[in-house]
Amino acid sequence: MLNNQDNIEFLCKLSNVVSKKISPVNSINAINKLLKTYLNINKAEIIIWDSNSMLLKDFGDDLKLYEETESGNEINNIYSSLAVFNGNKFYFNENEFECNLTEEEQYRITELKSENNTIIFPLVANNEVFGLLKTDSEKTIFTKDFFSLLNITSKLISGAVVNYILNEQMEVSLNFYKAMKDIAKIIESQYELSYIIPMIGEMIDRFLSSHLIYIFIKQDKDYKLVWPNACKEETVYKLIKKINLKTEYILSEDSKIGVFPLISENTILGVIAAYSNIEKLLQKDIDYLVQLTRQSGLTIQRANVYAEVLQYATLDALTGLNNRRQFEIRLKQEVSNSQRNNTPLCGMMIDIDYFKKVNDTYGHAAGDCILKNVSELIKNELREYDIACRYGGEEFFIILPQTKLSEAAAVAQRLRKVIEEAKINIKDSGAVGVSYIKITVSIGVCSYSEDLNEDSFVQKADKALYEAKTKGRNRVIVF
Ligand code: GH3
Ligand code: MG
Ligand code: MG
Repeated sequence: MLNNQDNIEFLCKLSNVVSKKISPVNSINAINKLLKTYLNINKAEIIIWDSNSMLLKDFGDDLKLYEETESGNEINNIYSSLAVFNGNKFYFNENEFECNLTEEEQYRITELKSENNTIIFPLVANNEVFGLLKTDSEKTIFTKDFFSLLNITSKLISGAVVNYILNEQMEVSLNFYKAMKDIAKIIESQYELSYIIPMIGEMIDRFLSSHLIYIFIKQDKDYKLVWPNACKEETVYKLIKKINLKTEYILSEDSKIGVFPLISENTILGVIAAYSNIEKLLQKDIDYLVQLTRQSGLTIQRANVYAEVLQYATLDALTGLNNRRQFEIRLKQEVSNSQRNNTPLCGMMIDIDYFKKVNDTYGHAAGDCILKNVSELIKNELREYDIACRYGGEEFFIILPQTKLSEAAAVAQRLRKVIEEAKINIKDSGAVGVSYIKITVSIGVCSYSEDLNEDSFVQKADKALYEAKTKGRNRVIVF
């Protein structure tokens, strides 16, 4: 029999447990211990209604669902009938009682009790039942205090569970908005689809980690898989065929696969397909995917427009160096100058070492920040008539007119050293925990000779660069 002192101690300890921000499993273990010690309850389970799967599930064990089995059915029935009473009734061995037990009811309980007693209290929020506290007890004397304590226990647990769920939902929304923002942000510095698509894919993948994500781009009449490398789901291809401009999304028969068209300005640009390999796609995932595809469609559309405009530009948008197109033009000019005037001409190909790792560790924004900074360092080290270009992603080509090979090699060494020593500030990129990073580059240097054309000249520098990479990176190799 509990005395008042024990009641108070129990309630204090319970409040303490439920007010702490700990995982469901840990909370349930702690609650179980208290119920065992003070109320002689063998086992307590917290069961909540999951509005996504429309099933009751164990709060401490995500995978335990109360589906239509015999015992599952029983719990479901009890849940349904308690839900009708807005949390004013509880179950004792298959019988309903008022939460505020009357004398008469208490007498009935003494008649119903057995070796093993199941007591189920509703979990309530805003006058609605959203779950159950199920306890098993061998106890032989059930006092009024016992039931009031269980009643209070269920109220305290209700509050804690609601808080936990709200926190979790908030975290998911925050991650979602971050993914949306990241996708929108890509376009600020990027316009190459080959670069944008994998980033969009990775972001959605990270956000919906229990799904396989595929991205298709429409080319003429066909949808071409562009991310990742393979898609073995026949159904995905079947569903894609059904897409038209009015489609918001299409689900497979078992609802495990969904295809979401990338639409912008009344044109279908492609499709994002999601395959959930555990259960069917939840409504909330579908809602997220609809929004993510809408944002991605805009980003891809803008990238296409931007790429068109940029064809006529001369500078690379991110680094301010000459772009690839301008590089081709300038190289042609310098090769012909060199031939005409019989002056030396050199070139160097620079490639950042292990750049993929930088992106993977600190994020693409940090990667972009490094590309900008390295470009600045390169510009600062060159003479006015040297021509620095962004050749590709993290590759640069520098055309050095009127320069002998030995001079070019010296410039390359100087550049390599300056970059090696630089502390590159990435604070503005949003990377957490670091304010600067250090990187190195590998450089291949070569000189032009009459027997070369523009292409073979670039290839010569590239070969030297390749050697610099294989010999260990952070070095200059002269062809
Ligand atoms: P290695 O030392 O062999 O050159 O290693 P690496 O990781 O630098 O080589 P790799 O060529 O495999 O990776 C280049 C990476 O550069 C891949 C791509 O994610 C990244 N990249 C290309 N363009 C951009 C860009 O514009 N911005 C950012 N942030 N990353 C880019
Ligand atoms: Mg590279
Ligand atoms: Mg590299």
